[in-house]
Amino acid sequence: MYPALFLNKEKLIHNVKTVKNLCDTANIELFAVTKCFCSNPDVIDLYYKGGVRVFADSRISNLQKYDYSDIKKVLIRIPMLSEVEKVVEVADISLNSEIEVIRKLSEEALKQNKVHEIILMIELGDLREGIVEESIESIVENVKDLKGVNLVGFGTNLTCYGAIIPDDNNLGKLVELSKNLNEKYNLNIKYISGGNSSSVYKLLDGTLSKDINNLRIGEFILFGTETAYGEDYTEIHQDVFTLKTEIIELKVKDSLPTGNSGVNAFGKKPTFEDKGKMKRAIIAIGKQDVSIDNILPKDESIFVVGQSSDHTILDLTQCKTEYKVGDILEFKVEYTTLLEASTSEYVSTILE
Ligand SMILES: *Cc1c(COP(=O)(O)O)cnc(C)c1O
Repeated sequence: MYPALFLNKEKLIHNVKTVKNLCDTANIELFAVTKCFCSNPDVIDLYYKGGVRVFADSRISNLQKYDYSDIKKVLIRIPMLSEVEKVVEVADISLNSEIEVIRKLSEEALKQNKVHEIILMIELGDLREGIVEESIESIVENVKDLKGVNLVGFGTNLTCYGAIIPDDNNLGKLVELSKNLNEKYNLNIKYISGGNSSSVYKLLDGTLSKDINNLRIGEFILFGTETAYGEDYTEIHQDVFTLKTEIIELKVKDSLPTGNSGVNAFGKKPTFEDKGKMKRAIIAIGKQDVSIDNILPKDESIFVVGQSSDHTILDLTQCKTEYKVGDILEFKVEYTTLLEASTSEYVSTILE
């Protein structure tokens, strides 16, 4: 059973409903992003109960894990040329920036007797995916002629690679470009997709352009943190998840290794500080599950000392609690903890 990620169902449904309402009120269609928990179907079900009907993930294999008759699926990582067939089969909409891929999507859609919807991503400074401004018109002209794809909108992604914050300047540009292209090419677009959880602060303070009618939100639903400035939104539970691990060894040992020193399990030459004798616990979780920076003990008198593939060593010297072998320790879960723990097949997810 351990290590395990415990998920509080009521809290998550509350978060989903709250964000859905916020979006509905602002006339924003919510694409709920599910990659952080690998689209675990049990968790997807809570999103569905909370009112989500459009699900978005970076990976086709995640989008294939569940099905409902009244939902749409969006692929938010621009597709690999080699997965186009699956994309058309599984996703209703995909985000795109490469004409070569879009042509192949169109071909494939015609083969499958479908029209695949695409949103064109526009580069606005963050330097991950997106078409640069000078090339947009020529891409739109090419896309318009394709029979298997329907251009349903324009979008942008910010604060992912370049840490660029959405503002009136870059989002203003998105809106202006989208409206101009829509008019010039008679596109009848459905979406202007204004980003991810880093755009939420503008939704909350009422400064998000009324023309933006779509957001793709992952982290804000799960943790209640808008990711532009890291502000917490108190109406959303921040503690939906708790990571629990078990102590498998607890002994007083030196803090300095003894013997001739070589390299550690990862080929590195580590250094150590002599803190004298230490009460050391080993918990059954390792780098293969959650990396050391994301092991965040709830008991603040516990310090994380080190980690190998499947062991994590903790310093319990300062603890008032008398821990023993077999005890379960609790850890806070942040975005990366959830991402890593969900990805590890050795960490179970338990809904409670
Ligand atoms: C991951 C991702 C999102 C969601 O990001 P959050 O910060 O979790 O809201 C939205 N759009 C794209 C393209 C993404 O890759």
